[in-house]
Amino acid sequence: MHADVDGSFALCLTHDVDRPYKTYQALYDALRERSLRPLRAFAPRTNPFWQFDDITALESDLGVRSAFYLLNEPSLFRQPWRAWTEPTHWLEHLGRYDVTADDIRALVDRLEAGGWEVGLHGSYHSPGDPGRLGREKRVLESMTDRPVVGGRQHHLRLGADSWHHHRAIGLRYDASLGSSSSYGFRWGYRPRRPFDDDFVVFPLTAMEVALPDPGERFVDAWEACRDLLVEAARNDAVMTVLWHPRYFNEREFPGYRRLYRRLVEHALELGAWVGPPRALYERLDYDRGTDPITSDPTAVDGFERGVESSERPTSH
Ligand SMILES: [Zn+2]
Repeated sequence: MHADVDGSFALCLTHDVDRPYKTYQALYDALRERSLRPLRAFAPRTNPFWQFDDITALESDLGVRSAFYLLNEPSLFRQPWRAWTEPTHWLEHLGRYDVTADDIRALVDRLEAGGWEVGLHGSYHSPGDPGRLGREKRVLESMTDRPVVGGRQHHLRLGADSWHHHRAIGLRYDASLGSSSSYGFRWGYRPRRPFDDDFVVFPLTAMEVALPDPGERFVDAWEACRDLLVEAARNDAVMTVLWHPRYFNEREFPGYRRLYRRLVEHALELGAWVGPPRALYERLDYDRGTDPITSDPTAVDGFERGVESSERPTSH
């Protein structure tokens, strides 16, 4: 059935860690339901958005690894007063977490020890601010054993110079080029080298929320994933997917965990290399002399430089 699949395509697995705890929603739910039950979400270890143990167990079971990109959104309380008047700041603040908190540090240790990639999820206002992005990278690296080599901007926000900034602060790849409302290989089948050097851009093929809702239309969602995998296999493509950790909570986001498992299982059945972008980057780099990516003449021109994401700032 898949005779044209030769095993030379790849599936990169990534998770943007936006909100590891369900907090303000729990308070809201409690007020709405006039019940204290949702407040149990505040209790350590039972937080419904803390899905990391389940995700790593699931991926271990499948024999794969992925990348977790950690966000270091500055506290609104340390912003200039002007920031308080901007709704986007409030929205970001409500979900923010302290990336240096003990449980996140422990998580980073566990991920690194287990072979997962820990990367940078650049904060909302960092795409045009290399100083801020550099600080966020250094804070993260104060917690990691290995240098942070890549990541993705929060809300997929890319400014005209973001990749220059990424390269200048020592990142080797970016995975922000994509959409939260559509999926597919719009940006091509291969990673891009915007500067024709060893800085690589991994386009995002599918974010979970762009797919049909697997809680309501599982077959449609699965067929969309299967079609992407088959297209990737036929074109020796690098396919990159993003599943936010909280979407692994089957009660809150039914269908997404099952869809993810099936996606990875089928990629392996088709002979894909499956793993985090850093590991693939190292392979690309190693193979550079013969890597078709380096000779891709469309690597720069196809991209509308300077796109600021027009996505709503309320999610992801
Ligand atoms: Zn994000």
